[in-house]
Amino acid sequence: MEYPYGRDEVIERYSRYISRASHVTYAPIVPYKARNALVWDVEGREYIDFLGDAAVQNVGHSNPRVVEAVKRTADRLLHFTFIYGFPVEPLLLAEKLSEIAPVESPKVAFGLSGSDANDGAIKFARAYTGRRAVISYLRSYYGSTYGAMSVTGLDFEVRSRVGQLSEVHFIPYPNCYRCPFGKEQGSCRMECLEYLREKFEGEVHAEGVALLLAEPIQGDAGMVVPPEDYFRRLKKILDEHGILLAVDEVQSGLGRTGKWFAIEHFGVEPDIITLAKPLGGGLPISAVIGRAEIMDSLPPLGHAFTLSGNPVASAAALAVIEEIEERNLLERAERLGERAKNRLERMKKRHELIGDVRGLGLMLGVDLVKDRETKDRAYDEAKKVVWRAYELGLIVAFLQGNVLRIEPPLTIEEELLDEGLNRLEEAIEDVENGKVPDSVLEKVQGW
Ligand code: PMP
Repeated sequence: MEYPYGRDEVIERYSRYISRASHVTYAPIVPYKARNALVWDVEGREYIDFLGDAAVQNVGHSNPRVVEAVKRTADRLLHFTFIYGFPVEPLLLAEKLSEIAPVESPKVAFGLSGSDANDGAIKFARAYTGRRAVISYLRSYYGSTYGAMSVTGLDFEVRSRVGQLSEVHFIPYPNCYRCPFGKEQGSCRMECLEYLREKFEGEVHAEGVALLLAEPIQGDAGMVVPPEDYFRRLKKILDEHGILLAVDEVQSGLGRTGKWFAIEHFGVEPDIITLAKPLGGGLPISAVIGRAEIMDSLPPLGHAFTLSGNPVASAAALAVIEEIEERNLLERAERLGERAKNRLERMKKRHELIGDVRGLGLMLGVDLVKDRETKDRAYDEAKKVVWRAYELGLIVAFLQGNVLRIEPPLTIEEELLDEGLNRLEEAIEDVENGKVPDSVLEKVQGW
């Protein structure tokens, strides 16, 4: 397709025609083409994509195997609704997901987004247990539909204006860098779990709780990795009360952290898993994977969408999984993740702005602080780093206003990963040396 407008006109028309509710800006990039970890804009400028298209491109932009599967399938069967028929592609995908998911004898329900998958997790858990309440986490992100929004702990503004599901309780996530209980890692008594026990002894009737919904690593909260034994101890408490554990692997799943599913790092088998973002390699498809008896607890059409199980998106998802298997991308994510993390740790020694480096595999966060003692979030500096990186040809974003988000494709070439890290360090250095003017602050919106 030829672009009818130049870069500036596209951006100007966005504000005229596209709702601000469906958009956020970090940098004014109008993409034209992308391959693996590189993106070219409409004016031919090249960028290294450290955002991985928001953790969608685990196997790289326009992965040839995925593109081939899409073309081949679209040519034969663009769509046949899964609701009334039996297209084979979603079946093959469900079989494959059942093979790789750490859930015993699972069944799968398909949808189109991470948000609807999380709605599904809530619906299935409520139907199966006959209970209503949901435990969620402060600073969590589950999506934009009513259900997912209602359990999201990151931002309460939207739902205070539009209403929400009832019976949702929020607890603090185990964040060892910014401990909500003011403790230090290693010397704490897991006050975050004590908090849950106390809730159950007080205001929350545990036997009325259907599920706890958790990100195994909190993504949009700033790549927060829980202590190794948190989920094992949590599961024990949940089991005591017959509460299901649902894990949201929308961002952390399909190899991002070096395992198929991030929950596998913590030695716990969840009852329900939700998956989306990277699943379709860029096409809209999501999955709820759960124990069969849970997934059969809703009647027909209890979690169904006309376009879910689309054959093209399902074929793309099968190609994504094949690519991860055949190219050994789990091992690669772990290896490149270690490489990036070591480099970021070295950067931390040179740059006071970096307060913490964390994450697993290629799901990494760099926490920028004004002061390492107080850990005050460096909001303006993060905006400036993201803008300067953009000028240097690197796409990177921040979370919570100050945590740099590094989630490149698992297939990124080693040299590109190193080059991207060079550009990131240059951006940080320029910000520290006052070379980036305050005027860029209003250009970066972010969240
Ligand atoms: N869960 C998590 C952990 C996410 O990171 C996101 C997206 N940032 C979602 C759910 C929502 O997914 P979607 O945007 O596909 O609805």
